[in-house]
Amino acid sequence: MFSMHYSLTCLETGAELDDESLPLCNPAAAGPAFLRTTYLKHEFTPGPADRGLYRFADWLPVRRTLAGSCAPVTYRSEALASRLGLSRLFITFSGYWPERGAYMLTGTFKECEAYSVCARMPSEYPQVLVVASAGNTARAFTRVCSENGIPLVVVIPERNLSALWAVGPVHRNVRVVAAAGDSDYSDAISLAGIIASLPGFGPEGGARNVARRDGMGTTVLSAVDAMGAIPDHYFQAVGSGTGAIAAWEANLRLLATGGYGKRKMRLHLSQNAPFAPIHESWQGGSRTFVPIDEDDARVRIALIGAKVLANRNPPYGIRGGIYDALRDTDGTTSAVDNSAADAAGKLFERLEGIDLEPAAAVAVADLIAAVRSGMVKRDESVMLNVTGGGYARLQRDRDVHQVMPHRIVPRNRFTVDSVSGIMAELFARESGRRTRAPAGA
Ligand SMILES: *Cc1c(COP(=O)(O)O)cnc(C)c1O
Repeated sequence: MFSMHYSLTCLETGAELDDESLPLCNPAAAGPAFLRTTYLKHEFTPGPADRGLYRFADWLPVRRTLAGSCAPVTYRSEALASRLGLSRLFITFSGYWPERGAYMLTGTFKECEAYSVCARMPSEYPQVLVVASAGNTARAFTRVCSENGIPLVVVIPERNLSALWAVGPVHRNVRVVAAAGDSDYSDAISLAGIIASLPGFGPEGGARNVARRDGMGTTVLSAVDAMGAIPDHYFQAVGSGTGAIAAWEANLRLLATGGYGKRKMRLHLSQNAPFAPIHESWQGGSRTFVPIDEDDARVRIALIGAKVLANRNPPYGIRGGIYDALRDTDGTTSAVDNSAADAAGKLFERLEGIDLEPAAAVAVADLIAAVRSGMVKRDESVMLNVTGGGYARLQRDRDVHQVMPHRIVPRNRFTVDSVSGIMAELFARESGRRTRAPAGA
């Protein structure tokens, strides 16, 4: 019936689709709703750790596997757990922490999505992949595409460029384009949208790409594999909310196996004050996303420490999006300020022994507050999704170098004409040496 080990269901119409016959990385194929994967294999039987992320390949929409991946690692906390008085605190760590077997060389769970998205693409993919990023996604895709010779354009705000470091060499098929000046992540998304609309280029799709969501859902698969059960509570810092939607979908998939009871873990989603549009929208109680006006958003984003959480247009009200995930799980949201996040990050490092990415520290602060307020009971089981960490450790162990942009594009040049000229130039320069030209560019 279906040519692959999964099918895709449109959450609006219920139509079931074969991924083979869809445009690849079909961001728009479902119109106003998400597509969701259904895997032929219903049982949850993860493979051995040496398969990296692909130990969960039964539940990933991938055509192939790529070398160098690592799955999230889950362990039972002792020090932080006893400090908080929790008897069953499980930490799912995505980042670099050799003692725990975590070798994500770009430091965050964005590697889970990059190894999934790129493995969904066949090796002769006809377009150059275009990915917008605040920094962490750029690092992850730069690594995976460099190691596998996949043509990529990554678009990042100029002022976030310091986040674009790498451990290994950057392949010549990878181009870095920066949105100039005070451009933020949303400006990078606009610029990436223009590039992706050009012939020969295609969008990665963000939250709409099922490979991205199912890749991130492996954090929950890792936790449930270690815990043997679905946790009562799930804590994560959110920007786009993609990771949280993925966590909920992984939970639903586990319930469908029949082996995990009926529990839906409560999603506790945290943002970094004063930029917390998901929190503010959820407080408002309706499916309608409450946007923050552009100038106000720029001011607020400049104030937050966890820059990767600065997404102005998360998939909130869309069918199958953040609102539905929070509704279905009796979820909560919160806004954590910089000082609470810093303190939580320091506490975590002292007790657990690894430095945290600033966004991960936001989630730790939210957990601390939830225990204090009594929302989380001492004997309840908790999954703390530590979405990134070990940067300092990586700096000590490996040769980390800064990646320079190939072009810096000012906002007044964000037009199809201008951008198409820039891309033609950028790709023409190397035409003699690169392995494959973008058709039509
Ligand atoms: C991207 C990111 C987040 C937020 O994930 P979303 O899926 O965008 O909500 C949290 N922590 C880290 C370290 C990240 O890189």
